[in-house]
Amino acid sequence: MSQAAPSGAWTELGDGVWVRQSRAYAMNSVVLIKNGHAVVVDPGVLPSELDDLSQFVTSRVPDFDRVAVIFTHPHWDHVIGKPWFPAATLVGHVGLADEIERDEVDIERKAKAYIEGEGGETWRTPFAPFVPDLQLRGTVGHTLGPFPLLSYDIPGHSASQIAVQFPEQGLFLSADTLSDIEIPWLDAPAWIHRKSLESLQRVFEHEHIEVLVPGHGSVARGRAAVYQRVLNDIAYLRKLEERVSQAFKEGLTVEQTQARLAEMDYLGKDAAYAMNDVHRGNVRFTWQGFAERA
Ligand SMILES: [Zn+2]
Repeated sequence: MSQAAPSGAWTELGDGVWVRQSRAYAMNSVVLIKNGHAVVVDPGVLPSELDDLSQFVTSRVPDFDRVAVIFTHPHWDHVIGKPWFPAATLVGHVGLADEIERDEVDIERKAKAYIEGEGGETWRTPFAPFVPDLQLRGTVGHTLGPFPLLSYDIPGHSASQIAVQFPEQGLFLSADTLSDIEIPWLDAPAWIHRKSLESLQRVFEHEHIEVLVPGHGSVARGRAAVYQRVLNDIAYLRKLEERVSQAFKEGLTVEQTQARLAEMDYLGKDAAYAMNDVHRGNVRFTWQGFAERA
């Protein structure tokens, strides 16, 4: 079978690793190919892009039962690609299926709205909830075909979010963390996300990681660049916690705290892909965390 010629959206990272970046939020889908097996991570986002991804994989690995698809977390842009990989082994956190079931209507609504709006394409494959065949929890090692991997729980953006390391390729996939276009995007108080990142910082100190692919944004290459990403995210969260804590002690309401912390400097502030609303949401989650502790 002939191999599909990759479009400009593809970057070859070597060692049989490819990244395809979506037009939607610069989301990265990763493909690993080795010995007639493939692993696909977070296939997305637009239907035409999923067609391209699926053709890329099929032309190299015709047997779909030799394909595994890993879903790093259940947000809509990361989970809608499943129908493009029938018979693949599905992999995700043990909590993924519950979150997908809870958010099913929301996933469908957001996917359709984006794809038919900004995406300019037709939403033709309604979202159906699914349960991973392989469910991961904690820090755990697994093998998918010829690919040994390690997975890490990294809650804070989603309770069932995982990061995945492929030690043989020196590759680390950090899901929706460690981006160069997004600040940490919280769904819980900042310290939950910070603890996840501090555990990754220790991983980066000990493990040989040469290439980091975040869920959104650019690939980081080389240990120093990878390490800098984790330092940047932790620095943002520390500053956020410190400033929200101070405001909370002074008796400021959540709205007053958001108004005060609008002055904070952070990645993506007033950018074309603006993080201003994300930052406001982060202040709210963190303020609420202090209120629950008080
Ligand atoms: Zn996400």
